[in-house]
Amino acid sequence: MLRQSLIEYAKSLQATEAPTPVPQGTEVLLRVSHCGVCHSDLHLQDGYFDLGGGQKLDVRGNRPLPFTFGHEIAGTVEVTGPDARGASVGKRYAAYPWIGCGKCGLCQRGDEHMCNAPRALGVTVDGGYATHVLVPHPRYLLDVEGIAPEIAGPLMCSGLTGYGAIKKAVPYLRFGPLLIVGLGGVGMMGLQFARALTTAPILVADIDASKRKAALELGAKEAFDPADAGARKAIAKASGGGVGAAVDYAGSDKSFAFAHSVVAKGGAAIVVGLIGGSFTLPVPMFVLRALTVMGSYVGSMTEAREMLDLVKAGKIAPIPVEKRPLDATSRSLDDLRAGRIVGRVVITP
Ligand SMILES: [Zn+2]
Ligand SMILES: [Zn+2]
Repeated sequence: MLRQSLIEYAKSLQATEAPTPVPQGTEVLLRVSHCGVCHSDLHLQDGYFDLGGGQKLDVRGNRPLPFTFGHEIAGTVEVTGPDARGASVGKRYAAYPWIGCGKCGLCQRGDEHMCNAPRALGVTVDGGYATHVLVPHPRYLLDVEGIAPEIAGPLMCSGLTGYGAIKKAVPYLRFGPLLIVGLGGVGMMGLQFARALTTAPILVADIDASKRKAALELGAKEAFDPADAGARKAIAKASGGGVGAAVDYAGSDKSFAFAHSVVAKGGAAIVVGLIGGSFTLPVPMFVLRALTVMGSYVGSMTEAREMLDLVKAGKIAPIPVEKRPLDATSRSLDDLRAGRIVGRVVITP
């Protein structure tokens, strides 16, 4: 099989070749048709997350190099292991990539994406920037009948991340409307899932005027520019004293400072994006504002199925996708880093 792999951290990916795996037991070999290029691959390529104040979170782990990234995978079943029941050869699936150990308490209750011994495709085990990927069990293959193959993979990351955060926000909307901060690909999906999950008004904020306009067209009630000095006051007015939940899809110190500051008493600030930075708030303010601050990381397999059902029901507007060949993977990461990508790039190995 052909792959595009990390040989050394903070360096370009290189073409590598490896024997095509033969699935054992419950394993399934997917022929990768599409694999989305994701912003989180850049952090993995760097080997760290920025924690602010010059601090870094090392995420090199003991990942064996060469390592193949790519966690937004769609493909067709090529070979099934002798015990892999329920996956039909030749059928098209998206691979749920946030795979856990399958044995711990988190995995047993369906929260594999939070497992502390993960086997996440393209993150802790080899992923989809390759002609083939090995999936440990057919249960991780999700039916994407009726969904365009080039968005099926990205849905497992940006779609699921967008959806998972909105689900956490919904119970807090009794305290006020929803605010979505950061209208990149994930934020735009979050907005559309929010429209499907709640009748509460949805406010949005982004520094980019064209994104604010696009969000209004997708059903946001009002849009704000967080760089505008009057934005916080305007949100307080539009929300009748603060929002019930603010979902920060950017995840920088600036965006989170903005997001949490407009939350009403009793409400929640939910951080999703991983741009980096740090945040401080005097301890008594959590109490006096009855403020919940939480993080949301991708989503469970149950949530992935719920999210796919909403997509199949036509709740998500078409997403512009540019397809590129496998050998364009590294260049695509560079383009993403430099902000040269509009919409989504999907590798077609
Ligand atoms: Zn991703
Ligand atoms: Zn586990």
